[in-house]
Amino acid sequence: MLEGGRLMLALEGVSKDYKVGTFGGKRLRAVNEVSFGVATGEVVSLIGESGSGKSTIGRMVLGLSRATAGTISFDGRDVAQLAKTGPRTYYADVQGVFQDPFSSYNPIFKADRVLTLVKGFFPGIGRSDWDEKVEAALQAVRLEPGACLGKYPHQLSGGQLQRMLIARALLLDIKLLVADEIISMLDASTRIDVLNLLGDLKERGVGILFITHDLSLGNYISDTTLILRRGRIVEMGATEEVYGKPAHPYTQMLLTSVPHLTERWDPGTHAPVMAGEGTEAEDGDAPLIRLTDDHFAAIRGDT
Ligand code: ADP
Ligand code: MG
Repeated sequence: MLEGGRLMLALEGVSKDYKVGTFGGKRLRAVNEVSFGVATGEVVSLIGESGSGKSTIGRMVLGLSRATAGTISFDGRDVAQLAKTGPRTYYADVQGVFQDPFSSYNPIFKADRVLTLVKGFFPGIGRSDWDEKVEAALQAVRLEPGACLGKYPHQLSGGQLQRMLIARALLLDIKLLVADEIISMLDASTRIDVLNLLGDLKERGVGILFITHDLSLGNYISDTTLILRRGRIVEMGATEEVYGKPAHPYTQMLLTSVPHLTERWDPGTHAPVMAGEGTEAEDGDAPLIRLTDDHFAAIRGDT
């Protein structure tokens, strides 16, 4: 946990099974006994390949899907319960932004409807006070009000739509943001802006669960890193420890397959790696053991 932060979000032994198969007779364990926390002002990166269970975790944290086992609590209260009985209160504190910004907008309405829809959270607010709040939120995400208000989603870029969703989170003065692959769809120049924006949120004390399949993005922004493999956390800890001294073979493999921007591609040293298949990374079933105060890995203690 981040020093000086206060734990807000806590997952304990969380699992999720999906019913699969024609008649739903089979079960797929998408998330397997995952435990971690997010503190105020802490950025926690949840890193894993496609299908490792990242979005399932994000959806459960947002109360959009229920855990099969384990508990998820926010400020000491059960999230599934909060999302059911007091969604308005919960979503005033916790918001999600997802990979495809277009999917969060209805193409037949103007894009800024995502902002006006949260006006209900401020009963009795006057028109000019509201306009001021909107303007401040847009400025914080470096959107020119004139360039984005009154426009339809198709008239705005992916980056602009993404920022407007973050502006909505700011309007609500949220405590926790779940950001699920929000950078993936953006072009390189916008990426760094949105990452820096997340840094601004962190400065304001917002906790961020930053979900990505891209290790280089996690390193840029996060205090704490979780490596997820087939629904299990195989390594977690302070970002500099996980990146600096990766202990699990799977983390090591992921790190060696990240291209270094200063290097040129060389077929000899960067042969394509089929991530996650077989190899020596079968230690994922071992329990997490403590390597240092702030570093855990699912490796056999005697190896
Ligand atoms: P990620 O976000 O890491 O790519 P997901 O959480 O989306 O992974 O998916 C984890 C696993 O659960 C995958 O095998 C996926 O196919 C499966 N899965 C996700 N959502 C559902 C669902 N609604 N029904 C059945 N299986 C699902
Ligand atoms: Mg996903």
